[in-house]
Amino acid sequence: MDRILKKCLTQNPMEKVHRFVSNDFTIRAAAVNATEVVKEMQRIQNTSPLPTMAVGRAMVGALLLASHLKEKQQVGLYFRGDGPMGRVFAEAHFEGQVRGYTPHTYYEPAKYASGLKLKEHIGQGTLSVTRHLPFQKQPHHGTVEMVTSEIGEDIGHYLMQSHQIRSIISLGVYLDTYGKVQSAGGVLIEVMPGVGDDVVDLLLKNSQDVKTSMSEEILKGGHPVEFLKPYLKGIEFSELDHNYPISYYCPCNEERVVRALETLGIEELDDMIAKNETAQVMCQMCGKPYDVAPDKLTEIKNKLYRQTLN
Ligand SMILES: [Zn+2]
Repeated sequence: MDRILKKCLTQNPMEKVHRFVSNDFTIRAAAVNATEVVKEMQRIQNTSPLPTMAVGRAMVGALLLASHLKEKQQVGLYFRGDGPMGRVFAEAHFEGQVRGYTPHTYYEPAKYASGLKLKEHIGQGTLSVTRHLPFQKQPHHGTVEMVTSEIGEDIGHYLMQSHQIRSIISLGVYLDTYGKVQSAGGVLIEVMPGVGDDVVDLLLKNSQDVKTSMSEEILKGGHPVEFLKPYLKGIEFSELDHNYPISYYCPCNEERVVRALETLGIEELDDMIAKNETAQVMCQMCGKPYDVAPDKLTEIKNKLYRQTLN
């Protein structure tokens, strides 16, 4: 347990989300090498290749989006598709904490006919984005249809639909032949509403000229600024201060984990209570274990029982 907790708190001071703005303030951009946090997610959850790809990309996307927020704000991405790996979740804070999860941890297709393309596994459905704002109890929600189910394009579609922001987004997770994360990262370039098509055309042309994927660039040891440069060719830009090292972080607590026990059902809870067992429940997102004593189990059971009477 100590090992897991200690690992959860480990931060790599070298990695942060780099933020940029064009000198005329019409474009903002973010770039990140998220290799360590995506590796950490896979280490904790032991995800198979496709779930790693999906959760990893969502984590990178959430980190990039969150970097454009303000202090203490966070963003949550929830992909709900009708495919066998339909649900993917990621959440990131402005200050660089990120977590990700899919309930389909060990999902493997019968064969990798389409390589690591996510579309047929996630399927069609929606992307819901939750953005927390300080001093507001209710988070802001936006939901859009997924367009490609490849994560990046869907986030771009959300920005357009919900915020009228045209964007270029590239997310990458590179796996070795054993399905282990070797590198992960991405860029997000946003064009402010009202900016002329010529700027957008230039950005699109630039992005078409980018030949290597983000994750390959990181694998070669590239710095986030370096892999952003080709996208912003012909545009003068400056880096903004954003000195928060990224880390895998899960704000779970006993209450949330106990809620998971409610899904067990009365019979199974009865069984545990009869044996006078302390249940050990692990948070699925970070692996942190929680002990739930028999009297707490009884309380959960009684609550479930009352619900069946309603
Ligand atoms: Zn947790």
